[in-house]
Amino acid sequence: MYLHGTSKINDKGHLEIGGCDVTDLAQQFGTPLYIVDEELVRQRAREYVEAFKASGFKFQVAYASKAFSVMAMCAIAEQEGLSLDVVSDGELHTALQAGFPVQRIHFHGNNKTPDEINMALDANIGCFVVDNFHELALLNALAGEKGKKVNILFRITPGVEAHTHDYISTGQQDSKFGFDLGNGSAKAAIGQALELPNLEILGLHSHIGSQIFEVEGFRMAVDKVADFAVSIREEFGLTFKVINLGGGFGIRYVEGDTPLPLGEYVAAITNAIKVKFNQADFPLPEIWVEPGRSMVGDAGTTLYTIGTSKDIPGVRKYVAVDGGMTDNPRPALYQSRYEAILANRANEAIEETVSIAGKCCESGDMLIWDLELPKSESGDLLAVFCTGAYNYAMASNYNRIRRPAVVFVKDGQADLVVKRESLHDIVVNDVIPARLQKSALAN
Ligand SMILES: *Cc1c(COP(=O)(O)O)cnc(C)c1O
Repeated sequence: MYLHGTSKINDKGHLEIGGCDVTDLAQQFGTPLYIVDEELVRQRAREYVEAFKASGFKFQVAYASKAFSVMAMCAIAEQEGLSLDVVSDGELHTALQAGFPVQRIHFHGNNKTPDEINMALDANIGCFVVDNFHELALLNALAGEKGKKVNILFRITPGVEAHTHDYISTGQQDSKFGFDLGNGSAKAAIGQALELPNLEILGLHSHIGSQIFEVEGFRMAVDKVADFAVSIREEFGLTFKVINLGGGFGIRYVEGDTPLPLGEYVAAITNAIKVKFNQADFPLPEIWVEPGRSMVGDAGTTLYTIGTSKDIPGVRKYVAVDGGMTDNPRPALYQSRYEAILANRANEAIEETVSIAGKCCESGDMLIWDLELPKSESGDLLAVFCTGAYNYAMASNYNRIRRPAVVFVKDGQADLVVKRESLHDIVVNDVIPARLQKSALAN
């Protein structure tokens, strides 16, 4: 059994996270429940910040809030000195409502709408990461209407492919994101931007993928970015001040996942930039990174109550929990794998191999195939580890299932940071047009 952060098994044989017995959390908050180990989130943030401080570079560590965007998480990011990436008006609103310092907000996305751009301009956020020619012109025009000059990075696709699942790799040439380095569109975009009066070019952005376990991809990206920076200086006399290498740093979901300590990714990036930029006699830039998954992923645990089971002799035994693809769509989307334990009987001997099913009307709604557990019974608690990133963030109301609550746990204290949705929440946006109402039909 691999336990993350402050998780341990207490002398009652119960899983404990942040000093809180999860059987108590289930009583108090119900299940399914997302539990976030606050200490581990803060530790991850500090690993990045300390590694950058040791490098001597100017830096920003921007938490990619899409991984888990709630106001309490924005508060922690602010306290730890992080910046924040947003990719929609909803994520921006979350950050603004949390009072996150606007200068440290960066706006991403391949199709920012005029409304979203206007909202971000009005909020005076720190930087836009421009993805395409349409956005370049639109941003310049909208900034001009407001009499503002805005900081931009160019999102480029360096043509580096991270070794990861196809759906989540974005650094290769065939991508919906960014300006291509190889075919000249990145250079053309910069040439255009230099003619646009309301844009201040800070530098380049590259994001090569996700759940990356090696540093080679980042080194290759640095090589391409540095060569490009030199060519742009030669052609336009423009010197980039910021190089943003994105996120994608891997975490351990299951045995066999071999992430590096976070500081090693940072050291590889800062060293590569130092070497390449010094060689080119180029002033050392400020370095930004954008970790999402590695900031919150292993700090999250989802607690479920086991309900029914179905044993098909000689085939398999299904054990169903009170959540599923609605709170964790990643197994269905990406065939993602997870580890889990019986949280109320964690010390008992393994007795059977079962497959954990969700409660949605989809055969594909499976959370874990072939999990070894003690003999489980209805009412037992199942804890699935490493659900902090892209779980609550991707949760849906399919089957009109209510999204679970989220609690932060630390030093024996559990605080609600997102309430469980109510049945009222489920229908709150529904409208029955007058002509469909019973009174109208009676006539
Ligand atoms: C998704 C994304 C990130 C975060 O990726 P993780 O794998 O969660 O670290 C960072 N930057 C950009 C541009 C992204 O799209």
